[in-house]
This record gives sequence, structure tokens and C-alpha cells, in this order.
Amino acid sequence: MKTMLALAALLAPVPAYAQGMVTSADPRATEAGREILRAGGSAADAAMAMMIALTVVEPQSSGIGGGGFLLHQSAGGPLETIDGREKAPMAATPQRFLGPDGKPIPHVQAFPGGKSVGVPGNVRLAALANRKWGKLPWKALFAPAIRLAEGGYTVTRPMAAASTNLTPLWGGGRTAVAGPEGGTSTGTADKVGRFPQVAAMYSRGGKPLTEGERITNPTLAKLLRKIADEGPDAFYTGDNAKALVAAVTTAKVAPGDMTEADLAAYQAKERAPVCGSYRSYKVCGMGPPSSGATTVLQILGMLERFDLVKLGKDSPVAWHLIGEAMQLAYADRDKYLGDADFVDVPVAGLIDKGYIAKRSGLISQARALGTYQPGTPPGAQPRTAAPQHNEHGTTHFVAVDADGDIATMTSTIEMPFGSQLIANGYMLNNELTDFSLAPEKDGAPVANRVQPGKRPLSSMSPTIVYDASGAPVFTVGAAGGKTIIMQVAKAIVAHFDWKLPARDALGLGLVFFNKDGLVLEQGTSLPAMQPALEAMGHKVTVSKLGLKANAAEKTASGWVGAPDPRSVGTALKQ
Ligand code: GLU
Repeated sequence: MKTMLALAALLAPVPAYAQGMVTSADPRATEAGREILRAGGSAADAAMAMMIALTVVEPQSSGIGGGGFLLHQSAGGPLETIDGREKAPMAATPQRFLGPDGKPIPHVQAFPGGKSVGVPGNVRLAALANRKWGKLPWKALFAPAIRLAEGGYTVTRPMAAASTNLTPLWGGGRTAVAGPEGGTSTGTADKVGRFPQVAAMYSRGGKPLTEGERITNPTLAKLLRKIADEGPDAFYTGDNAKALVAAVTTAKVAPGDMTEADLAAYQAKERAPVCGSYRSYKVCGMGPPSSGATTVLQILGMLERFDLVKLGKDSPVAWHLIGEAMQLAYADRDKYLGDADFVDVPVAGLIDKGYIAKRSGLISQARALGTYQPGTPPGAQPRTAAPQHNEHGTTHFVAVDADGDIATMTSTIEMPFGSQLIANGYMLNNELTDFSLAPEKDGAPVANRVQPGKRPLSSMSPTIVYDASGAPVFTVGAAGGKTIIMQVAKAIVAHFDWKLPARDALGLGLVFFNKDGLVLEQGTSLPAMQPALEAMGHKVTVSKLGLKANAAEKTASGWVGAPDPRSVGTALKQ
């Protein structure tokens, strides 16, 4: 009998999640996550260790000087989310990014320097996640990152590229591309430089970093050790708070007004997830201050009545429909989304099936609409739309542990290298330029205007998809400003309608848009559809989009991670 039972146990199907896995946009961060899983850490522990390691090895994209959103699905338990989004200092006003003429300054002028820095949220987010779901002590989460910062790591292709793009802005022996007061400087080289610390750290005498060279970050290692030993308050109070405030307020470019009190008051917030359905699947993600889940659900909802499965991924009609749904959803996003702690955001109305059906009714299968106006969802207050901009400087990572818990997080410092300011070896975000730089439009206040203590609207869209039985089967998130929402929506269509494995779903080209019309991603199968899309009335351009997503799918043999084929990311089994 005993042997029979043992045999039965051997033959019983292994639960699909029996083994954990991790995936991120940087191989060293993925290894950090695996190390934590192997040490008995939970999915949340592994995700936080990756967040901290990414501060060291992918400093151009994210880190403890920034913020993020974490989705956590416990096996058989609830889906919970933590908002670690940056906040505006209490001294911030809606006029923060206006020039002397009362008009918003260009984004390229607004992002570098102290005024764009929001109060970072990632360390408080990590502490809350560790308190709620951690199996390992707080201190353990920092060990891989400290080792990387002390022992050194090699520069990746994306890091070298980010440094190449930005060294001219940093100054110090080279001509700057964008002066602090705007415009383009063509004058004599600025000897000291506008951003001496980042230039010292991530350039070589004003020359960009090269792929493969080695970097150490002992200052950051020291701080990480202190936070590991003393807890999150070592980031938000005391010496680090002083150093952060000094970096912001004494910046050579646009000195800011953050105070130690702003840092001490920061709290990560637990928020209700935003969920809806797409065909037989349930799709859940982050609510305000992210526009992610709301806009993803609008896009998918408008597409639901079309037979995308039959049309297939090579059909220009399919991409025309996706392009139409995208532009209608983004029109609503720009009008209604903002920090719901400050403005009324009609999330329920925006994802209401009846409202979405009405919006979808505007879409013709044969012809482009041409103009894409916001609608009036149930519960909406009168509001104006915000002007748009694009940006890049984010990362997404996923951990699944042996219990089947899932932690999936998008983390950001907004632009590559954020505000270009450094405190204690970590980059400071420029998240406040995710606010609408214009406080009002057509005489009415904009939902996403700067206000003291408010969180800027985000596009970050960490998402989990569940099958009809309610089991999680797919998770995805991305970097790339507003393209994030579209990358996530496209990955879901490609995976569930077109049956592409997660990695191929990410690798499939993207359609986005600018003020002129559709933009098709260069180097993919999409540009071949340009003539057909033009024949449907679209204005079309082809461009590089600089995308970077990350996903994981549940297969018969367990969870499989999917880094973006465009990235240097990796996935590892526990
Ligand atoms: N800061 C952006 C957001 O939260 C993301 C920036 C990017 O990915 O480039 O929406």
C-alpha cells in the first residue's frame, strides 16, 4: 500500500508552478532574483531584490531613486497592488513648469535638474512588500545588489547607448545639447559640466561608456548596506535624506524645492486593482495614478467585437482596428486620468462595457476615423485633455515562487538617467515631468496638473491575465512612456488571439501614433503594411520605437519567463 501511494505521488501531475522563475531586462538582476528564490525567498522577495539590483546595473532605467507599481497575486489568494509612485514636494505648484511667458516649457528643458525630481517611492514599496509577503529578512534582499555595486559589473549595450545619448547634456568638455534655460547650446564647451556627478560616474572624461567596460559603485554599496541594516528609514531620513535634498536643491540646473519633511512623509499605498474582461479572460492591473489598466482594458474592450483571431497578425485590417481602438482609448486617457487622491477619475465609467461598446461603434473596419476625440464615460466630470509627450526610462520584471505566488513590477526613473542628478550613487528620477506641464487648457484645469503632494499620471501597466477558471496564466509589463500601454495590449492580443508564445508576442512589431497618424515599428513585419493602411485613410510613418517589455506565461511545464527579444534581458528557472 505504502509503495502504491509513493508511486501515485510520483505519477501525480506536478503543479504547473512547482518551480519558481524570474525574468528581468538585465541578466545580473535576473540572477539576483534567482539567488533570492533559491535561498527560500518569496516571489515578492525576489522581485524586490531585482528592483534593488537594477538600481546598480541598469541605472539608466530605474532604481531606489524612482518609483513603481507592484502587482502581487498570492496562490489561491487575492490580487493586491502597491503604489510606490513618486510624489510632488509640498512646495510644488501647478505653475512649476511654466516659462516667463506663462507657457509650458518644452519637455526637453523640464526633465533635467532638480525641479523634475519627485519624492522616490521604491524603498517604501519594497518595505511594504517585504512586510506583507516576505519570507526572507529585509537585509537579505540587498545582498546581491551590494555585491554588484562593490565587486563591479560590465556595461551593457543599452547602458552604453543611454550614456552616448546623454553625455552631451551632462557637459564638462563637450558641447551641451539642451541648456538649462532651454534651446540648444552651440557655444564653447562647458568645462565643469551641468551634471558633474553623473558625468563622472557614467562617462569617461566626457566620452560615453563603452559596452563591456567595468563599473563599481562603492558609494551606493555603502548606502544599500545602511538601508539593509537599519531599514527603510535610512533612506527617507537622516544622512541620505539630507544628501537627496541637497542634490535636488543645489542642482546647477533648475534647483528644486524638496524638503526632508517631504521625504519623511512618503508612504507607499495599497490600491484596489482595476480588472475587466477580454473574451474569456480576466485582465487586471494598476489603477490611478497609473492610466495603465484602464487604458489597456479600453483598447481590448473596443477590439472584442472584431474577429482578430480570423484576421490574424499579418492582416492590415487587424492593425487598423488596433490603431483605431488605441487612439480612441488614449484620447480618454489624456482627458480623464490623473491621481484619484486629487481629482475624480471615472475608472468604472471608462471601463464600463456599455460605454466601451459605444466607443467601439465609432470604429469602421474599412476606414480610419481620422480624428479621435474623448468620449463622456458615465460619472465623468467636465475636464480638458492634456498635451502629450513621450519618454523612456523604465523596466519591468517578474518573479514566480514555488508556491505559485506572482510578483510583477514596473519600476522607473522616467527618462534615461532620470533627472541626471545623483545622490549617494543612485540616480534621481524626473517623474514630475509626467505631470501635464500645462496646468490648464481652454481655461479649465487639467486632471494631471502639478499639485503639492500629488502623484503624476503614469502609463506603467503591470498586468496579470487569468483564464476562465480564474487561474493566472500570463503577466506582462513594459518600458517606453505611453507606448507601454500599447505594448501590453498588443502582447495580450498576440498571445491570446494569435497564440504566439510570450516571447514572440513581445517581439511582434508595435503600432503607435503621433500627432500626424500611425507609427509602425521599424525592423518588424509592420512597415510592409504601410500601403494597405494608407489605403484605409491612415497617415503612416515608420520609426524606431525603443521598446522593452517583459512577460511570463504559464505552460504545461510551469511558468516560463519572456524577456523582450529587443533587450538584453533574461529569464531563469529557480
Ligand atoms: N515615467 C513613465 C510612466 O510612468 C514611464 C517612462 C518610460 O518608460 O519611458 O508612465
